[in-house]
Amino acid sequence: MFVVFRCRRCGRFLYAKVGVKHRTCVCGFKNDLRKVRIVARAEDERIAGEIVRKLQGEGTEFRSLAP
Ligand SMILES: [Zn+2]
Repeated sequence: MFVVFRCRRCGRFLYAKVGVKHRTCVCGFKNDLRKVRIVARAEDERIAGEIVRKLQGEGTEFRSLAP
């Protein structure tokens, strides 16, 4: 199971495996998974990635996510 959440500093949508304590965003901010607000849940990583892409496409666009 994966959770989708927003970076607490820059607002990007990210996902992490359930049980993981921290997830570092591309902006460099280390998100504490116990403190972020979960926006969605997904069965596997592929679905989580699709949700993130979909959410990212709405609102603000971040085109330089991956190196
Ligand atoms: Zn960030």
